[in-house]
Amino acid sequence: MNDGQLLRYARHLLLDEIGIEGQERLLAARALVVGAGGLGSPVALYLAAAGVGEIVLADHDTVDLTNLQRQIAHTQASVGTPKVTSAQSAMLALNPEARVRTLPVRLQDDALLREEVTAADVVIDCTDNFAIRVLLNRVCFALGTPLVSGAAIRFEGQVSVFDPAEPASPCYACLFPESADDVQEVSCATMGVFSPLVGIVGSTQAAEALKLLSGAGQTLTGRLLRVDALRMEWRAVNVMRDPACPVCGHRAMPG
Ligand SMILES: [Zn+2]
Repeated sequence: MNDGQLLRYARHLLLDEIGIEGQERLLAARALVVGAGGLGSPVALYLAAAGVGEIVLADHDTVDLTNLQRQIAHTQASVGTPKVTSAQSAMLALNPEARVRTLPVRLQDDALLREEVTAADVVIDCTDNFAIRVLLNRVCFALGTPLVSGAAIRFEGQVSVFDPAEPASPCYACLFPESADDVQEVSCATMGVFSPLVGIVGSTQAAEALKLLSGAGQTLTGRLLRVDALRMEWRAVNVMRDPACPVCGHRAMPG
C-alpha cells in the first residue's frame, strides 16, 4: 500500500479483524455485482469505497426518473444513461483508484456469465429477476464461487450467503426451489419499495462480501437474515442444505 492508500483505508487498518493483511486482500480481490439498481447502488459504492481491487458491474438497464427514489448511485443528471455508466461515475468520484469494469448487458448468456463468475472472488446478486437469480446460483455453485444474495420488496428484505466452500452451506435453490410454481415475478416496478430498505439490505450484502474477501468474522452462510422495516424487526433463521436439491444436492458429503 502506498501513503495515499494507508490514509484512505486507515479506519480499516485500525480494525484488528481487517488490518493491513485484510485490506491487502480487498485490494487484490475481484467482485462481480449483478444489478446496478436499489441493492446494487450501495453495494457498488461500499465496495469501491472499501478498496475492492476490481469491481465488475453488470446491468442492461438505463436510469429512469422512478429509480431515483432509492437507487442512490444515480442522479437526476444520469436519467436516460446506462446504469452501469452512471454507477461507475459515482464509484470513481468516491474512490478514483477503483477499477470498475462495466457490462451493459442482462447477464444471462451462459458463456459470459461463466467467464465472469470464474474470474470473480465473490458474486453479489442485486437483481430483482428470479430467472437470473436461479442462473447465478447454478453457475456460482458449479464454479465454487461464494454468492451474496439479497432481496427487497415493499418493507421486507432478506440477505444470505451461499458458499460452496462450506460443506454445510445450502444454495439459493435449497431455499427457493427453481421449479416453485408459487414464485411470482414480483419486482419494485409493480410492488413498491421503501426507499432506505434497499440501502439496509444492500449495505448488509456489501458487509458480507467484504467479510468474505477480507476473511473477517463469520458470514451469513447457513443463515437467512430477514428484516421487516415497517416494525424494524430483524430475524436470522438457520437454513440447511437440501440433500435433494437439484443444484447442490449431488455434492459429495464431507468425509
Ligand atoms: Zn441447493
